[in-house]
Amino acid sequence: MPRAVVIGGGAIGVASAHYLEGTGWEVTLLDRGEIGRGCSYGNSCLIVPSHSHPIPGPGVLGQALRWMLRRDSPFYVRPRLDPGLLRWAWQFRGFCRPEAAARGFEALLALSRASLPLFEELARTPGIDFFYQRKGLLHVYLSDRGAAGARHEQEVLERAGFRVRLLSGPETLEFEPALSPRVRGGLYIEGEAHGHAFGYVRALAAHVEKRGARVLPHRAVSRIVVERGRVDRVVTASPVEELPADLVVLAAGAWTPELAASLGIWIPLQPAKGYSCTIDDFPGSPRVPILIQERRVIVTPLGDRLRFGGTLELAGYDLAIDETRYRAVVRAGREVLRTPFELGNAEAWCGLRPVTPDGLPIIARAPGVEGLIVATGHAMLGFTQSPITGKLVAELANGQAPSVPLTPFRLDRF
Ligand SMILES: Cc1cc2nc3c(=O)[nH]c(=O)nc-3n(C[C@H](O)[C@H](O)[C@H](O)COP(=O)(O)OP(=O)(O)OC[C@H]3O[C@@H](n4cnc5c(N)ncnc54)[C@H](O)[C@@H]3O)c2cc1C
Repeated sequence: MPRAVVIGGGAIGVASAHYLEGTGWEVTLLDRGEIGRGCSYGNSCLIVPSHSHPIPGPGVLGQALRWMLRRDSPFYVRPRLDPGLLRWAWQFRGFCRPEAAARGFEALLALSRASLPLFEELARTPGIDFFYQRKGLLHVYLSDRGAAGARHEQEVLERAGFRVRLLSGPETLEFEPALSPRVRGGLYIEGEAHGHAFGYVRALAAHVEKRGARVLPHRAVSRIVVERGRVDRVVTASPVEELPADLVVLAAGAWTPELAASLGIWIPLQPAKGYSCTIDDFPGSPRVPILIQERRVIVTPLGDRLRFGGTLELAGYDLAIDETRYRAVVRAGREVLRTPFELGNAEAWCGLRPVTPDGLPIIARAPGVEGLIVATGHAMLGFTQSPITGKLVAELANGQAPSVPLTPFRLDRF
């Protein structure tokens, strides 16, 4: 049996392990910490093809600059003289052009749409239980100006084939009675899904382990050894172990560049920090996930818990929680929900999204190293796009035609 080593036990790594195992590979999945405790742990848990606009886009730079002036805004760049960040930012600027954003939208939409049937299949698999729900997504607007912008959003989404409903203020409150009368309007997108992202990662890891894969938490990979142009083995630190490999999948999220750099492969990626606060559910909480447009905060019902998540902060690999930004996420929740709520059993979290300059992931064979596949850079959509990414990784490994065209996700596009 050919041997595959998957580095990174986040949503992308476990999904890759799952589809490789299912197509005849002997799989070892490694994570330097607990499985699923990276960015896949406390995210907003949405499975949302409608959110396929790449991060760079027309108007984004101006908006970002305005936000930079506010301490509690949903976007921040920590000023620093980091040549990697400056180069990334320069490339990002180029991808804000309308044509680039439109191409990016199509590419991301194709990936996210292909994921939905795979989620349905996984959710039906005995033992893979992650609170999968298909209740749609409600965008809400706190200002008349925001609500007026909903019409444009409706047109864009309808053109892309989504079924959406534009709601007036009173209609939005009738649709979701948990909302406060401050809400001026809404846009409901049918067919969108959500599920417990950490539960999904844990369940998928347990599933592949039961089918014979080795799942090894607390094993940091220190080196990928390449011999005569092809991967030969992976070396872990404490305990030091050499794992022979015919295939290595590099799915270490925001930390992928450091491992790739040791092989002379440059991956343009910045960690983009986001925060969440998860509390006990309370009577009168929402039944559908809600995006508060002006605040860029998402409220996700997760059974007996409720999560508020948001913010994008380019501050390097620092995992400290900035109290002002974290509190702004919870405050946005208080603004839109009718019931004043306590922060019961609150869990504060932050995670680093892996973000490329064009906002699209990399799902590709690494040029120059046979047997190495890179799967990272999923930014705001890593949970949404994880099943299809795992499937594409297996298709690449098996030399099969890809289910989704892979050209937009090549590594040599930068
Ligand atoms: C606030 C917030 C909200 C979000 N909401 C959503 C959402 O609603 N829907 C959505 O689709 N996406 C969302 N995202 C994005 C999503 O969480 C990420 O895109 C996704 O988790 C990335 O998955 P990953 O597997 O690439 O990375 P990770 O989950 O970070 O996994 C990478 C793993 O690699 C391991 N690793 C690193 N280096 C090594 C090494 N040397 N050896 C071994 N292991 C290593 C790490 O420990 C880590 O566990 C959100 C993100 C944030 C921050």
